[in-house]
Formats: sequence, structure tokens, C-alpha cells
Amino acid sequence: MKEKQIVRKISVCLLVVGLGLAISSHAGRRPPYQTVHDMDRSLLPPVITPADEPAKPPSDAIILFAGKDTSQWESDKGGRMKWKVENGYMEVNKTGGIHTTKSFGNCQLHIEWASPSPPKGKSQGRGNSGVFFMGRYELQILDSYTANNYDDNRTYADGLAASLYGQYTPIVNACRKPGEWQTYDISFLTPKFDKDGKVIRRARITVLHNGIVVHNNVEMWGSSGHKVKNPRYRPHGKLPLSLQDHGDPIKYRNIWIRELPEQ
Ligand code: MG
Repeated sequence: MKEKQIVRKISVCLLVVGLGLAISSHAGRRPPYQTVHDMDRSLLPPVITPADEPAKPPSDAIILFAGKDTSQWESDKGGRMKWKVENGYMEVNKTGGIHTTKSFGNCQLHIEWASPSPPKGKSQGRGNSGVFFMGRYELQILDSYTANNYDDNRTYADGLAASLYGQYTPIVNACRKPGEWQTYDISFLTPKFDKDGKVIRRARITVLHNGIVVHNNVEMWGSSGHKVKNPRYRPHGKLPLSLQDHGDPIKYRNIWIRELPEQ
């Protein structure tokens, strides 16, 4: 009798421990349906056609770039940014990434970009740049106009334009043709950390690509990176916004940001 009770107690304990492990191991993992950088064609989102007309800045926006003045930016290598500035846009020119002189937390960002025309390169070498929130969380820029024509320009779904690089594929492919101006409108909520540096809220992001929702309030799993299977957070406060120099001449214009409060 006594033995049976002991066995029962041990079974209950094992069940509780097992459940706890299952819950805790699930908490920090990506969804099981997607591995990092999977070339599977079936993972590519459907193509849709966006409407015209990009957004103008509202009265409370901080203008980060309006066509000429680059004083809101500096080079990741230190000092003044050295990207080409002409005809109302700035262009990546292999002088390194750039970041804002000011740090930001929760924000709304509007940014316009155009990939080279005629297109050059393939896959991740075709018009690659990126918008890095807090210098860590990348909203990818890429020429993905023909990404669903698998033979012409094959790349992985979680590295397409408007992907949250390596973590989330956009809901649809709303890419315009190479050379045409495209918009991103983003609402970004910073991650939060406790006093020991533990994540108590992951970063959250909503993205509209050419006016179309492609991410609806998703949680980032940690900092972005190439082939990072288990993204991690490193505690931080407000940080600058960065634009990537991936070696391709991406153009940028009409960049404005609004700081958002905690709600
Ligand atoms: Mg990139």
C-alpha cells in the first residue's frame, strides 16, 4: 500500500516537472513550422499589387531625411556619413552603414527606398540593405519583385523584402519593380528588460509595405543575424536607428519618425 502511494507521488512529481520543462522550452522558441533560411518554394508569400502615393510627414514627426540635409545621420565607422546625396535621395555606396545621431525607443517610422534598375545580382545580393531598429532588429530591404519566379531570383522567404530577417516572412509580397520608390510604415515597440537583464517583453513590430500590412504586431525573437537559429536579446535602452550598407546601391528618401509613448 505504502509502496503504491510512493510510486503515485513520484509519478505526479515527474508529470509536473515534465509539464514545466515543456512550457519553458516552448517559451523561447520560434514557431515549429519554419526553420531559418529555408529555400522551400512553398514558404514564399503570394504576390499582390500595391496602390500609389507615399505618406507625407505629420506635424509632430522628426524629419530624418528630406532630400538634402544629412545632419541627423552619422557613419557606423564614426564621423559624418559618406553616402551619395543627390536629386533628393541618398544612396548606399560601400562606405559603411549609417545610424541616426539620436536614439529612439517606441516609434513610428516612415521610410522610402528603391532598389537598382536594371537589377543586378541574385538572391541576397540583389538590392540588399536593411532598416535596423535599435541597430539590432532588421526589417529587410531587397529586390524581391521577381522572387516568386523561382528560376530567376531564388532566395529564402525569411530574407525577402519586408521580412524580419531570419525570423518572419512577410504575409504577402508587395514589392514594386526595381527602380520604383517603395514605402515602409512601421510601428515599433521596444523590448523591456528587468534589472537583471531578463526579457520581460519582446520587441513588437507592425509593418506596412507600400501601404499593405505585412507584419501585424509580431514579436521579435531577439537580434537579427545571418543563419541565427535561436535569436537572443542583449539588454539595452534607447538606441539609434541604422541603415545597412550591404554593398548594393539602394536609394533612400523621405524618412521621418515619431516617438511613441508606453501605453
Ligand atoms: Mg539586409
